[in-house]
Amino acid sequence: MTATGQAVYCGYCGQGLDGSDHAACARRLGVVDPPRFCAACARRMVVQVTPAGWTATCSRHGALDSAR
Ligand SMILES: [Zn+2]
Ligand SMILES: [Zn+2]
Repeated sequence: MTATGQAVYCGYCGQGLDGSDHAACARRLGVVDPPRFCAACARRMVVQVTPAGWTATCSRHGALDSAR
């Protein structure tokens, strides 16, 4: 369950996905908020809001953006 790139941490609060309820976090992330923490390593990401949405960059795993 710890393969690279797999989400094991909550992108909103940075806690492990096991053990606590992140339904509220997922709801926030699903609406407007960019993730604050890398889902793979829980590092705090650098978030930038752009005209198109947002980008969130992990120093280890690179950038995510809101365009999917
Ligand atoms: Zn959470
Ligand atoms: Zn990362």
